[in-house]
Amino acid sequence: MMNVPLLVSSMLERAEKYFPKKTVISRTSTGIVTHTYKEIGERTRRLSSALQKLGVQKGERVGTLAWNHHRHLEAYFAIPGIGAVLHTINIRLALAHVVYIINHSEDKVLLIDEDILPLIEAVKDKLPAVQAFVIMTDKEELPETTLEPVYHYEKLLEEGNPDFEFEKDLDENDPVGMCYTSATTGNPKGVVYSHRGMVLHSMALGLADNAGLSESDIAMPVVPMFHVNAWGLPFAATWFGTTQVMPGPYFTPKVLAELIESQRVTTTAGVPTIWLGLLNELEQGNYDTSSVNRILCGGSAAPKGMIKAFETKYKIPFIHAYGMTETTPLVSVSRLKSYQQDLSTEEQLEIRSKQGGLVPGVEMKVVGKDGEVSWDGKEMGELLLRGNWIADEYYRDERTNDAFRDGWLHTGDVVTVDEEGNIKIVDRTKDLIKSGGEWISSVDIENALMAHEGVFEAAVVAVPHERWQERPVACVVLKDAAKDNLQKEDLYEFLKPQFAKWWLPDDIVFLDEIPKTSVGKFLKMALREKLKEHLTE
Ligand code: ADP
Repeated sequence: MMNVPLLVSSMLERAEKYFPKKTVISRTSTGIVTHTYKEIGERTRRLSSALQKLGVQKGERVGTLAWNHHRHLEAYFAIPGIGAVLHTINIRLALAHVVYIINHSEDKVLLIDEDILPLIEAVKDKLPAVQAFVIMTDKEELPETTLEPVYHYEKLLEEGNPDFEFEKDLDENDPVGMCYTSATTGNPKGVVYSHRGMVLHSMALGLADNAGLSESDIAMPVVPMFHVNAWGLPFAATWFGTTQVMPGPYFTPKVLAELIESQRVTTTAGVPTIWLGLLNELEQGNYDTSSVNRILCGGSAAPKGMIKAFETKYKIPFIHAYGMTETTPLVSVSRLKSYQQDLSTEEQLEIRSKQGGLVPGVEMKVVGKDGEVSWDGKEMGELLLRGNWIADEYYRDERTNDAFRDGWLHTGDVVTVDEEGNIKIVDRTKDLIKSGGEWISSVDIENALMAHEGVFEAAVVAVPHERWQERPVACVVLKDAAKDNLQKEDLYEFLKPQFAKWWLPDDIVFLDEIPKTSVGKFLKMALREKLKEHLTE
């Protein structure tokens, strides 16, 4: 067989050639703008040539600080198009971490959205490696800024070469991009993606039993392009000629609902907190969501109640998937097998709220106290992964040795595996509750609570306890309609039939809001800190 290098630039070339009329629709500060793949291709080539003129060399990193929009998509292809590395920076991280990762990756040029300028201006003197700042603005003129040297994105494009040839003298194992992921303690850890891994991962997104992304889709990635490349969707969607809808900066659930209706979105992807917000919005407004034929949800466990609400009330199929920054991210998708279609709705939901079966191309091992666990849905162990789009190190970081051992990525996720091979995450190793030497899954109790119709969000954490070392305490945010009439006792009554007595939380605390991480996951560390004396006071 031939051995043709798998390069990301060929994805855009395919879109230019076969889907020049298909479009990328972006919500910007001046309204909705539409570009065809022909235009995106030309603009990307112009950007590649401009970056080269700015002195970016093969292998060097270019950072982006940007929301989901067409310019960010152009950067996705223009940077690897000259053999450089697309470093997407999570703008919601603590400022000190943003500085750390820009310096650690030695970004040579930064592409920055206008509204994110103040963030970088505040730290500009701490970024010695950065040689140029490019501002992505919808306005004709550059905004006032203390950054220098500074360039206007659109003006750079005007001077760029629309016929620029993408760099082909690359090895498919060369880096295409990088993304830093938060660590429990210390600085974020860098993950480097290869051209090969990204192309294979994109191929997997097109498989019918995975995301099933296709040309006929109108895909709206809500997961930020600075978080694991919006789960790789912009790459795959471009390759397949899929219409893309980019929600732009500071979107609300209302904005998402309106985009779904006006653009006839068929598929969209994001974390559960996004979908909880959308559900709330759909309950209040009167939106036409009939175009949507699947929502992809990952990043945290999808509560059963939410899956059920989307499917029964709004007839929107809901697909639960699992992955992490280190895995590009697609690892598993929760789908019923063909012989499970006749199960009762409740039985189906039970299966589909798990993290599901591994996608083709990824292998796992689940290791418990006594070696590999049995597939009985009960025994817990740590999930280990390997495959062609699984990272094998952290970029220049000695923490590599903790997570990557013996050819496997040690995920830190504790799972059970059922007879069908479906994994169910019961916790992260750091979030497990160990009561009197026995493990309690915080995730199970959270899911049960969130299935209550009066509960908006719930997070369960381990709180130090004199006798049992740790006990679970639940933090609950009620829906507005339930605030005046739902009591702690009602929730206990609701939980009792579902759990062994010793699994029930020692207390249920009502909060106005659950603190979240930069990517919208529950910030359990903050809750543990807040409640650390709750059971000893
Ligand atoms: P971080 O580690 O900073 O949260 P990632 O986005 O890489 O960043 O998160 C990966 C982790 O998110 C996984 O290891 C797992 O704990 C959790 N996760 C991802 N998808 C799911 C899911 N569908 N259900 C439960 N947990 C999930």
